[in-house]
Amino acid sequence: MRLVLLGAPGSGKGTQGEKLVAHFGIPKISTGDALRAAVKAQTPLGLTAKAAMDAGDLVANEVVYGIVEERLAQPDAQKGCILDGFPRNLAQAQVLDTMLTRIGKGDIDKALHLHVTDEEIVKRLLDRAQKEGRADDTEAVIRHRIEVYNAETRPLLDYYGKQGKLVKVEGVGGLEEIYQRILGVLK
Ligand code: AMP
Repeated sequence: MRLVLLGAPGSGKGTQGEKLVAHFGIPKISTGDALRAAVKAQTPLGLTAKAAMDAGDLVANEVVYGIVEERLAQPDAQKGCILDGFPRNLAQAQVLDTMLTRIGKGDIDKALHLHVTDEEIVKRLLDRAQKEGRADDTEAVIRHRIEVYNAETRPLLDYYGKQGKLVKVEGVGGLEEIYQRILGVLK
């Protein structure tokens, strides 16, 4: 199973993705996690990415391609993977398809859209910023992130929809309830 998780920041991709890791026995590849680790470790890649991340913008495509290609080549990703936060725009989706073809790993099987309204997203992200003491996660940055999602990432719904790969679930409700919805549409 090669699955792409689509949904705004705060839609629950990370949490639900973890549950799917256990269910399918394949790893989750999160470019956001990899970038945060690089920022923390102050690697050259992290230093390059930090400003864009702080501003709620996407980092340059070339920065994330290396992360994904390296991760896809690891032994544990040979049976499949769950992509969380990548692809984030059309160029990345096309490059992903090319990468998978090049390494002979077939195609993306499904793209799962976790749908949550913009207002609910703002509420969740403000709440998270407060709980985690992320003072730089201001409402302005949060709203900008949602704008970037709507402008750059939302077109991927069409990209995968046209290929007959898109499935959608409502991302509002209890964690377990949402998870069961997801298992239902992935069957
Ligand atoms: P996330 O945890 O997936 O919301 O990612 C956190 C931040 O990392 C994003 O706001 C972007 O700045 C950056 N990022 C993560 N994944 C990508 C990607 N595929 N392309 C560009 N930037 C990304």
